Order: sequence, then C-alpha cells, then structure tokens
Amino acid sequence: DTAMYYAKSQGRNNFQFYLPAMNEVTSRQLSLEAGLKEAIERDELYLVYQPKYTLPQHKLTGFETLLRWESNTLGSISPMEFIPVAEEIGMIELIGHWVLNQACQQLSVWHQIGHTDLTIAVNLSAKQLKTDLVSIVQAALAVANLPASALELEITESSIMKNPTDAVTIFTQLKELGISLAIDDFGTGYSSLSYLKHFPVDTLKIDKSFVHDIDSKKADATITTAIIALAKSLQLEVVAEGVENHKQLSLLTDYQCDQVQGFLFNKPLTPDECDHLFFKTAQA
Ligand code: C2E
Ligand code: CA
Ligand code: CA
Ligand code: CA
Repeated sequence: DTAMYYAKSQGRNNFQFYLPAMNEVTSRQLSLEAGLKEAIERDELYLVYQPKYTLPQHKLTGFETLLRWESNTLGSISPMEFIPVAEEIGMIELIGHWVLNQACQQLSVWHQIGHTDLTIAVNLSAKQLKTDLVSIVQAALAVANLPASALELEITESSIMKNPTDAVTIFTQLKELGISLAIDDFGTGYSSLSYLKHFPVDTLKIDKSFVHDIDSKKADATITTAIIALAKSLQLEVVAEGVENHKQLSLLTDYQCDQVQGFLFNKPLTPDECDHLFFKTAQA
C-alpha cells in the first residue's frame, strides 16, 4: 500500500495531498507492531484447522493449521496483514515456533482419541528457514510425542527462492527426520521449475487463484492440469486449495488431483468444530 501511495504522489507531483494517507498507513503499521509484541502474552493468537480430503473418496487425511489474531485493541486481523509485519519486526520466529508447538499439541490430542492417521500441516515463513528450525521441529514432535510422519511443513516457492542454498540444506535435514514438505502457492512464484530437482519435496499445492476460475477460464484449467501432470511425473502428491463449488470439485476429480481443501468442504475450524466433524463422520 505504501508503494502505491508513493507512485500516486509522484505521478501527480503532489506530495502534500497524499501525506495524510501515508501517515495513516504508518500509524496502522505502528499499532500492528505494538499489538503483535503483546499478542502471545495476552493470549490473542489462536489456531484454526482446515480439513483436507482425498479424491475421489473424500476421506479426511488431516488439517492445515492457520493462524488467527484477535487483538483487544485492533479487532481481528488477517494473517495476510500481520504476518508480513511480524516478519519485519523479527517476531515471526517466535510466533512460528508457537504455532508449530500448538499444532503438534493439538494433533497429539487427536491421535490420543484414536485418529492416529491424521496429519497436520504448518505454514512456514521464509525467515524460519534457518538451521535451528530442524531442532525446533524435532523438539515440538518429541514434546507432543508424535511421529515425524504426522507433520507436514508448507513453504512457498518465493520463500524458498529467497535463499535456495540454505533451503536445500534445511529441507534435506527435515526430510531425514521423516517429515513431509509441501510447496505452497505453487505456480505463483515466477521461478524456474528446475529447482524442483534439488528439493526433497513431497507435495505441490495448487494456489486458490488457479482453482477459482477453473470452470470458466481456459488458462486456469490448463495451468491446473499442467501442475497435476508435473506432480504425477515427479511422483509428488498434489493438493488443490480454495475449492468452493461442485463444478471445481468435479473438474479436479476428473483431472485426478490427489487431495482438496476449501469452503465447499469446510472453513478453517476451531478444535471444538473439529471434534464435531469427527463425531459427524463417525455417525455417517
Ligand atoms: P495459504 O497458506 O495459501 O492458506 C490458504 C488461505 O486460503 C487461508 O487464508 C484459508 O483460510 C483460505 N481458504 C481456504 N479455503 C478457501 C476457499 O475455499 N476459498 C477462499 N477464498 N479461501 C480459502 P488465511 O487463513 O487468511 O491465511 C492467509 C495466508 O496467511 C496463508 O495462505 C498463509 O500464507 C499465511 N498464514 C496463515 N497462517 C500462517 C502461519 O501460521 N504461519 C505463516 N508463516 N503463514 C501463515
Ligand atoms: Ca498453506
Ligand atoms: Ca495459497
Ligand atoms: Ca495419492
């Protein structure tokens, strides 16, 4: 947003007019920064879990963990807004660490009540791709008494590309622990595909921007089928996110996508809502 204000102000050669807007952006940024610093202590962060299902059977395989912030002062704030701020102020490692531990604890509870096949996926920021990640992951699994195979880490292509050499090293160590790795928002990162050869990844996730118009835009359908074909030829699992309607689901089923998630099945759920889902599934 700040960049846009700059562009406008330069284009019109009138800085004064846009200065109030810039101040607004800055004060929002400052409130977010201040709020985030207190968020963990004040218990304002929590996790929701979005189910993933196989195709064509629609069997529940596990959940993607999504972070939420309900601020006392600012209300509920999207991770799209606060995660970049957490990255800028150097808090994402602490927050990411918290997310990883909480998610493992939650899965451990579900395993204990008998859902031992379920897996949990956790999103990682580029800033978390450091050598200590491996021991942090190992500790989170140990504390929760979970097998490494129950954990999947999702990382975007663009995060990997910020430091590909370190990413290869860390991915290789994470794979040695036995966890799964997924490339998130696949196809949106403008990078060469050759990096796929060097990364020990298990899964490609098709971004919801491709899925959204899959039934109306030829290009989106073509990109989706190409990603599925690529995944299959590399023997990777392929998951489509953002499935909202039956048309999209039926096309993804035809294309032989392995798994789906989206509002058609469930919104991201609280742990209580997940329990309800288990109950409903057991009754069905
Ligand atoms: P993402 O990893 O690509 O997650 C998918 C986003 O799509 C989520 O938004 C999810 O709620 C939303 N979504 C799921 N199904 C549908 C659907 O059918 N239709 C539509 N329109 N949207 C759907 P959310 O929860 O707002 O998260 C946004 C982004 O924030 C995530 O994108 C991820 O990049 C980031 N994020 C969320 N939690 C974490 C976290 O714990 N750590 C890090 N580093 N990033 C996170
Ligand atoms: Ca994700
Ligand atoms: Ca996405
Ligand atoms: Ca499969």
